[in-house]
Amino acid sequence: MAPVAPVAPGPVRTTTGNYVKRAAIEFPFALAPKPLEWIEAAPGILWLRLPLPFRLDHVNIYLIEDGDGFALIDTGIDNAVSREIWQALFEGPLRNRPLTRVLGTHCHPDHIGLAGWLCERFGLPLLASQTEYLDALRILLDPGALNSEPYRSFYHSHGLSESNTEQLLSRGLGYLRMVSPLPRTFRRVIAGETLVIGGRGFDVITGGGHSAEQVMLHCESENILLCADQAMAKITPNISVEAIDPDGDPLGIYLRSLEQLRQTMPEDILVLPGHNLPFIGLTTRIDELVAHHAARCRAILEACAKAPHSVVELVPVVFGRAIEDPHQMSFAFGEALAHANYLVRRNELRVSKTAAGSFLEAASP
Ligand SMILES: [Zn+2]
Repeated sequence: MAPVAPVAPGPVRTTTGNYVKRAAIEFPFALAPKPLEWIEAAPGILWLRLPLPFRLDHVNIYLIEDGDGFALIDTGIDNAVSREIWQALFEGPLRNRPLTRVLGTHCHPDHIGLAGWLCERFGLPLLASQTEYLDALRILLDPGALNSEPYRSFYHSHGLSESNTEQLLSRGLGYLRMVSPLPRTFRRVIAGETLVIGGRGFDVITGGGHSAEQVMLHCESENILLCADQAMAKITPNISVEAIDPDGDPLGIYLRSLEQLRQTMPEDILVLPGHNLPFIGLTTRIDELVAHHAARCRAILEACAKAPHSVVELVPVVFGRAIEDPHQMSFAFGEALAHANYLVRRNELRVSKTAAGSFLEAASP
């Protein structure tokens, strides 16, 4: 199938090159590309979508013109459907436009699932931040490592049932099924450096919270931010505590990253995210994301002021409903704990450990 570009009117630009923003959050493209199609989201930046077999049913990937070919930003999950789509792209629209390098924004399967496969097939370098590369490698080299102590006790102590604990302990094996083996060397990309892709400079920004050191690319000359999952228009990225860092504060890290973006990015920047549609209105979206987490924190504080709660008991407080599905529960648990740990670090909650497990209670005044 021939690529179509674009399928919807692109962003309106002023003579100075700035995008015109007509609403608080503007969507310059009404429709997303179908598999095997792309939209030129910005000059020389092609936006494609790959399907995902989850409730979140797609991931955005981007091809940035790089000499005769394209640098690829993210790859899709490793499954038969994604490989077929890639194969069709290589035999069709990309036949004479080779990939030049693969950048994985972060270690989650929907983003780097096929990075190893693509790098090996075409002899390409993998670009990634150090933490994301090592996090992926750690799981791939020892996918069963989580299924042991002290991780099992950690989940139990926070009130998780046996079946939900098993779900979380086996996540490494699930990861292995969705991610092809990574190259044993990588090209580390570092916050503050500038990658030159196709003659244009892309400043590297990294941010934690959703994953430890997610890579974003800012092209100042085009007023574009490829921000992966850090800020998306319709969904909030999962912010989860991992068992390897049980007292970690990913929410605090995430909020500081959003603040950095607010301080440094122009309001009219075109954001090319990892999921949902590209948008203009980053500051507005950051305000919404911050308010979303503040509301969750308030709900937790109110509940814990009345009675101590385990993290599992906080899940319906945070999400406003009981969560039965074990897969969803694994994300919900990590997210509830992220808010709890954030409030503990701010001395607004404290942890009491009893024979029955860990409970969050209001910090004494
Ligand atoms: Zn994602």
